[in-house]
Formats: sequence, structure tokens, C-alpha cells
Amino acid sequence: MEIIAVANQKGGVGKTTTAVNLAASIHAKRKKVLMIDLDPQGNATTGTGLEKLALEYTLADVFIDDIPINETIVRSPAGFDVIGANRELAGTDISIMTMTNSHALLKTAMESVSGYDYVIIDCAPSLNLLTVNALVATQGVIIPMQCEYYALEGLADLSQTIERLSELNPDLYIRGVVRTLYDGRNTLTRDVSAELEAHFGELMYKTIIPRNIRLAEAPAHGMPVLAFEKNSKGAKAYRKLATEVVKQSRSAQ
Ligand code: ATP
Ligand code: MG
Repeated sequence: MEIIAVANQKGGVGKTTTAVNLAASIHAKRKKVLMIDLDPQGNATTGTGLEKLALEYTLADVFIDDIPINETIVRSPAGFDVIGANRELAGTDISIMTMTNSHALLKTAMESVSGYDYVIIDCAPSLNLLTVNALVATQGVIIPMQCEYYALEGLADLSQTIERLSELNPDLYIRGVVRTLYDGRNTLTRDVSAELEAHFGELMYKTIIPRNIRLAEAPAHGMPVLAFEKNSKGAKAYRKLATEVVKQSRSAQ
């Protein structure tokens, strides 16, 4: 079982879109997928067709009230399993702060989860204790990056966090960086993309996610883009990314 966190403390760079559509595209390859929403905004939850306010449990119940994690797993209308989030998760990072092993609550809980090929975690746009929990529970991190002027800003923070966390999680590594919201007509986009390539080298996924209106529309219909419009550029791109991600698993064996 591979646990992958989708993280970047910058907001609006396509983390949730990537988590949902990567989960859906890997699921379409007949792999067993669990998506975990660790963002109180609950957008990833909604994106799979679940009603976030109707969730019985979120990870807050696991961390604070000792609800067994397996009871929080629901089958989403998108077809794969989800641990959903909603505003009940807001403040959980503060509530757990004084607990022993507060950074490893998710890792510990995940020890009783089995039967999945991939677990994809959508993180909030911050490096709060919930995100730290994701980074301690995972092996690889996928970093979505929008190719704009401020893309590289904050990158140092994220790299530093990953470095610091390697003490708590020696298995932590950057699995890959994916360019999102890409508009190749824009010179600045191309320049930043080249800069990212120079900085990350082999860590860059070859697949680039284009700016595609279908990707933005799909969540309003509670569907991954694969279900919403499978022949759109966005759907094709995420299918390609899923192939790259799954191939990484094979070449690591
Ligand atoms: P946050 O930091 O708030 O969690 P995020 O990093 O998860 O944001 P998303 O929610 O995935 O980012 O995307 C931000 C917005 O951009 C959303 O409205 C989403 O629908 C839209 N979006 C994301 N990727 C694309 C894309 N490739 N093409 C068009 N729109 C996109
Ligand atoms: Mg998000």
C-alpha cells in the first residue's frame, strides 16, 4: 500500500483537483484507491460526489474521540473509497497539539487500514499539524505547482519542512512535481516551467495539466473529470499522470 500526500502550502495551485482526479484515474486502472481529505474546506470530499456536511465521521473523530479509522471510510459516488472532511476538522490541529505523538496520529491510525493499492491524501494550503500528520504518514509527496511568478516562493519552506520531517519520517521523499493550470500560450508560464525543470530535474512529471474549464466545472457536479467529460484535455492529462505515478511504483520494486 503506497501512501501519497498531495501538498503545497500555496493556495489554489490545484492540490484538490489533482488528489481527486489522480485518485479517480488510478481507480480507473482497477487499482484499489482510498482518498483522504485532510482539509476542513472539504473540497476533495465534494469532488467525489459526497455530501460533506452529511458525513458521519471525519478524521477529527479518529484523532480526538478514538473512533476506529475504518468506520470513517465511505464509498464515494465516484466509485472509490474516501475518508471525508468538513469544517469539523477545523481546529483539530490545535486540539491534537498537546497529545503525545501528535504528529503521528494519522500514521498510527493507518496501521489498521489495509487492502488498498494507493492512498491519496489531499492537504490544506498550510503546513499545520494536520499536514504534518499527512507528511509523517506518507512515503511520497506529490507537489502541484502553478507556473506563475510566485510559484517558487514558498518552495523553500516546503523543502525545509520535508527535510525537517525526515527525522520523524525517514521514508519521506518528493515523489514528483506536477505542473498544473498550465497555459502554454503565456511566455511567463513557459519561463517558470523551464525554471522548475532546472530546479527539480528528474522529479518533474512529464505530464503537464493544462488549464481546462472541464476540470473546474466537474466538482460542481460532484464528479471527477473522468466521469464528467472523459475526453476533455483535463481528463486525458490526469489519466496520463496516473500512468506515470503507477509506473513509479513498478520501477521502485
Ligand atoms: P486550496 O489551496 O484552496 O486547497 P487547491 O490547491 O486545492 O486549493 P484547487 O481547489 O484544486 O486548488 O484549484 C483551485 C481552483 O482552480 C478551483 O476552482 C479548481 O476548480 C480550479 N482548477 C484547478 N486546476 C485547474 C485546471 N487545470 N484547469 C482549470 N481550473 C482548474
Ligand atoms: Mg484544496
